Amino acid sequence: MEKIFNKKYIDQKLLVNDYFVGLINDFSNNNKKKIESLSQQIVDNAVSYKGGSSFSKLIHEFSLTSNEGVVLMCLAEALLRIPDSATINDLIEDKIPVGDWNKYIKNDKDIFVNISSIAFLLTGKIVEEKSEENKNILVKMVKNLSGPLLRNAIKQAINILAKQFVFESDIKKAIKYSDEKKYNKYTFSFDMLGEAAVTYEDSERYYNQYEEAILETGKSLYPEKKSISIKLSSLHPRYERNKLKLLTKELFPKVYKLTELARENKVDICFDAEESDRLNLSLFIFKDIIESKLIDKNYHGFGFAVQAYQKRTYFLLDWLQDYLKNINKKINIRLVKGAYWDTEIKIAQENGLEDYPVFTKKFATDISYLSCAHKLLENKNIFSQFATHNAHSIAYIKTLFENTEFEFQKLHGMGDEIYSLLEKDSDFKCRVYAPVGGYKDLLPYLVRRLLENGANTSFIHQLKSKDLKKDKLIQSPLLKLDKLEDNNIPKPIEIYGDRKNSKGFDLSEENIIQKLKFEKILSNINAFSIINGEDVKCHKKTDIISPNNSKVLGVKYFADIKIVDKGIDYLKDFSSTWKNFPTKDKSKIILKFADLIEENSKEIIEICAQESGKSIKNSIAEIREAVDFCRYYSKEANIIFKDQILKGPTGENNKYKMLGKGLTLVISPWNFPVAIFIGQTIAALITGNVVLTKPAEQSSYAAYYIIKLLLKAGLPKNAIALLLGEGELIANKVINDKKLKNVLFTGSLETAKIIQSNLQKKESITNFIAETGGLNCMIVDSSALPEHVVKDVINSGFDSAGQRCSACRILCVEENIYEKIKNILIGAMKTQHVGDPSELSTDIGPVIDKQAYNKIKKHINSFKKIHQFKIKNDLGYFISPTLIEIEKLNDLKEEIFGPVVHIVKYKASKLEELVDDINELGFGLTLGIHSRIDKTIDKIVSKAEVGNIYINRNMIGAVVGVQPFGGFAKSGTGPKAGGPEYLKRLCYEQSISNNTAAMGGNASLLSEVED
Ligand SMILES: Cc1cc2nc3c(=O)[nH]c(=O)nc-3n(C[C@H](O)[C@H](O)[C@H](O)COP(=O)(O)OP(=O)(O)OC[C@H]3O[C@@H](n4cnc5c(N)ncnc54)[C@H](O)[C@@H]3O)c2cc1C
Repeated sequence: MEKIFNKKYIDQKLLVNDYFVGLINDFSNNNKKKIESLSQQIVDNAVSYKGGSSFSKLIHEFSLTSNEGVVLMCLAEALLRIPDSATINDLIEDKIPVGDWNKYIKNDKDIFVNISSIAFLLTGKIVEEKSEENKNILVKMVKNLSGPLLRNAIKQAINILAKQFVFESDIKKAIKYSDEKKYNKYTFSFDMLGEAAVTYEDSERYYNQYEEAILETGKSLYPEKKSISIKLSSLHPRYERNKLKLLTKELFPKVYKLTELARENKVDICFDAEESDRLNLSLFIFKDIIESKLIDKNYHGFGFAVQAYQKRTYFLLDWLQDYLKNINKKINIRLVKGAYWDTEIKIAQENGLEDYPVFTKKFATDISYLSCAHKLLENKNIFSQFATHNAHSIAYIKTLFENTEFEFQKLHGMGDEIYSLLEKDSDFKCRVYAPVGGYKDLLPYLVRRLLENGANTSFIHQLKSKDLKKDKLIQSPLLKLDKLEDNNIPKPIEIYGDRKNSKGFDLSEENIIQKLKFEKILSNINAFSIINGEDVKCHKKTDIISPNNSKVLGVKYFADIKIVDKGIDYLKDFSSTWKNFPTKDKSKIILKFADLIEENSKEIIEICAQESGKSIKNSIAEIREAVDFCRYYSKEANIIFKDQILKGPTGENNKYKMLGKGLTLVISPWNFPVAIFIGQTIAALITGNVVLTKPAEQSSYAAYYIIKLLLKAGLPKNAIALLLGEGELIANKVINDKKLKNVLFTGSLETAKIIQSNLQKKESITNFIAETGGLNCMIVDSSALPEHVVKDVINSGFDSAGQRCSACRILCVEENIYEKIKNILIGAMKTQHVGDPSELSTDIGPVIDKQAYNKIKKHINSFKKIHQFKIKNDLGYFISPTLIEIEKLNDLKEEIFGPVVHIVKYKASKLEELVDDINELGFGLTLGIHSRIDKTIDKIVSKAEVGNIYINRNMIGAVVGVQPFGGFAKSGTGPKAGGPEYLKRLCYEQSISNNTAAMGGNASLLSEVED
C-alpha cells in the first residue's frame, strides 16, 4: 500500500504525461469518432429534453457567480434550520435585497423557477422599499402580504429546492417509491442522509439508520435492485487518521456488523469517498473487511467509492489489481470525480502541504477518470460503477466497456436529461444515488450539490448555460494537454507570493506518522544562558520537570545578577555594529534560521511536547508560526529599511530612514515557547537592536535550543544574549540600565503593569510593547449552524488545554439555540482525549504546572453548573475540558488560563447590550461571531472593541501577515504581532536634510533648466 500512500503529492504534469496519456491515447484516438458522435447525441438529446428537473431549470436561471445564486445558497443552507421567526425575517431581509429577482420572472410555464423567483422578488420588494415599482401583476397582488406569509413563501421555495434532492423522508417510503413503474429502468443506492457525526449520540443514530435501511431493503420486493450508501464519518465522531487505535476498537466493529448484516440480507453496500486525508484510514478498514470471511463467492456486494480528482486513485486501482487477484475476492468500485475539491485546495494551503492531493486542472481530473476506467477494465475482480453526468466521460466509458458488464450511476434530481438517451438501450444499467432523510440532515448535502452544479467548470452547469458551446463541451480532455503548464493555483508553499509559506506536516500520512513517533523521553538535558555565544554555567540549578508525568528531564541553570550584567555589557559594545549591519545580511541570517527551524522540527516538537506539554499538532503550529515570523519580518524589514528621498525645494536633499534603537529586552511566555519567543526576538534583531532575551522559566530548554540554532544560522554572537532565570531579577536589572530602548513583553496583565510602572520611573522614555490576555467571547445567533459552532468552540476553548491568550472563554448563545448548542458541545467534549501530548492521538495535553493546575481547579470548583468528564491520568497536570454555565458575563472576573469555557444565554433583542457588556469587561483581544446574517455581523463588528474578530470560524491560530494579532485596553498596547506596524515601533526614524547648494551653489538646477 505504500505505493499508494507515497503518491499523494505526485506532480500532476508528470502523472498525466507519464502514466495517463500512454494508457488512454491509443484507445481514445482509435475510437474518436464513435465517442464524439455518442457525446454529441447525448448533449443534443439533453438540450431538447422536455421533462428536466426543476433543479436543472434553476441552475439554468441562477448562475452561482451571480448575486442571486449566492443568495440562494445562503438561504438554502440556513433557512430551514433557524428556529425563530425573528431571525428568519432577519436572514431574508439581509439576503433578498442583494438580488435582482425581477429579471427572473418569466412567462414560461415552469412553476418552480417562477415560484422561487416570485417569492424572492416579493420579499425583495417588501424589504427593499426603494426598489422600482414592479409592473408584474403577480407582484402587485401579493405586495401587501404579511411577514409570516412571506416567510412561508420563501420557506416554500427553499423546500421545493430541497425536495429536488431528497428522494424520500424515510427508507420504507423510499423503497416503495423506487419500486414505482416510472423507475423500472433504474436501480437505486439509498444514501441515508447525515454528515459527519460530532458526538457519539449522532453516530449511534446514523448507525441505527443504516441498520434499518439494510434490513428494510433486504425485506423489499426487489432487493437486488437496491443498495445502501454509507458514510464512515457519520459512524464515528472522530473519523481521523490520528485516532486509528480508537477507531479499531469503536468504528471497525460497526463497519463489520453492517457488512455482516448486508451479507445476511443480500444487500449491496457502498462506502462513500470523503476528504483525501481519510483515504488511508478507510483503506485500512476496507482491507480488514475484504480479507474477512464476510466477502467470499457468496457475497461480493461490498464496495467503496474512489475519487478520480485525487492523484493517488490511479495507484490505488493499480494496487487493487494484484491484491484482489491474490486473495481471490470480488468487490464493487464506484468511480466518481469527487465532491470536495474546494475544501481540498483550502486545507492544503492552510496546512502548508508540499502540493495538492487533487488535480488543479479540471481536464486533468477528466483524464484521470478515463485512465482509472482503463484500470478498472483490466481488473476482473471488480464490478465497475461509473458515477458521472458528463457526456464525454459517459460516451468514452460506454465505448470502452462495450463487451464488459458495468453500470452507470447518477444522482437523484440530476442528470435525467443526460441519461434519457441511453435509457433506450437494451443493456442500459444505471443506479440512482437517492438521498433519504429529513430536510434537517439534507443541508450540507444540498450545499455540496449546489456548489458542484453551479461551478463554472461543471459539465451540468455548462450544459445549462445560456451561451452553451456544444463543441467545447464534448471535446476530449486530451486536447487540453498543452494547458497543463499554465496553472493559476499556486502551490501551497507559494500562496504568499513575496515570501514562502511555512511547511506543514500531513498528519494523515503514514511516513509522517512514523517520523513523529517519540519512543523515549528526553533525558539529561541542560539549559544554559548564552552570552558572547557561549553557554554560561552557574550555581543556581533547577530541575526541568515535564508537566506530562512529573518526570525530571534535566537541569536548567538560572542566571544571577553578575551574569545579567555581563550579558548587557557585551550587547552594548556590539550595539552600534549591529545597527549598521546591512539589512539584507541580517535578513539572510534570519531566513537561514527559518530553514534551520524547519530542518530541526522533529526535535523542536519533542521539546515542546515534553517540556511544555504541547500536543504534536500544537507544536507543529508553533514551529510554522515561528518560521512565518522570520520570513514575514525579514520581508518587511527590507521594505522599511530602504532610505526614502522626500520631495522638497531645489538645492537640498531630504532623506528619511529607519534606525535600530539599541538595547532591547524581550520577555516571552511559556504558552508559545517557540512562536512568540522567536517572533519577538527576531523582530527586535532584524530592526538592528541588540537583544537580551528572557524566556519563561518553564520553557528554558526550548529557548536554549532555539538560540543555538540562531547562532548556527550566523547571527553575530554579541547581537543576542539569552538569559534564563527569574523574570523579576533579570527584568529589574535590565530595566534600570540607561541604555535600554525597547521592552517587548508577552504575558500576564499583572506583570505588564509592574514593568510599565518600573519603566515610568526611568529618566528617559522607553518603548514598551505588551501583549496580555483576554476574556474572549464568541457570540452565536440562532442562524448559526450548531455543529459548526461546536467544532469551533472545541478548537477555540480546549485546544492547547485552553492556554492561549486568544482562547474562547465565554460562549454567548442566543436563547433559542442555547440548549441545543450546549448539548452538542457536551457530547463533543466526550470525544476529546486528554493525555500524553507526545502521542498523535492526544487532543488536550496537561496545563503547564502545579500552580496553574491548582488555580484552574479552584476556579471550576467555585461554580455550580459544571459539565466535565472523568479522566484517568494522575501523574501529570491534566484537566478535563470543562463547560460552566453562568448567568451573566461578569460572573467571570478574570482570565482563566485552562480548558474551561463558560456559556451564557442572551436574547436576540439584547444583542447590542451584550456587545456593550463584552466591551465593559475591559479586555479587547479576540471575538468570535457565528451568524449567517451580514447585518448582525456588521452590527457586532462596528461596536466591538477588540483587536481580532473571527467570523464563522474558530477564533485562535492567527496567521502571521494574514491575521496580525494583538488587542486593545487590558489586552495589550499594540502594534500587532505579525502585522505591518510592528517593526516600525522598534525603530527610530531619522530625517537628514542636506543643503546641497552650500558647497558650490545649485549647479544641478542651473544645468537642468533650458531657455
Ligand atoms: C452516484 C454518485 C455517487 C457519488 N458518490 C460520491 C462520493 O462517494 N464521494 C465524492 O466525493 N463524490 C461523490 N459523488 C459526487 C461526484 O464526485 C460528483 O457528482 C462528480 O464529481 C461530478 O462529476 P461529473 O463527471 O458528473 O461532472 P464534471 O463537471 O465533468 O466534473 C466535475 C469534477 O471536476 C472537478 N474539478 C472542477 N474544477 C477542477 C479543477 N480546477 N481541477 C481539478 N478538478 C476540478 C470537480 O471537483 C469534480 O470532481 C457521487 C456522484 C454520483 C453521481
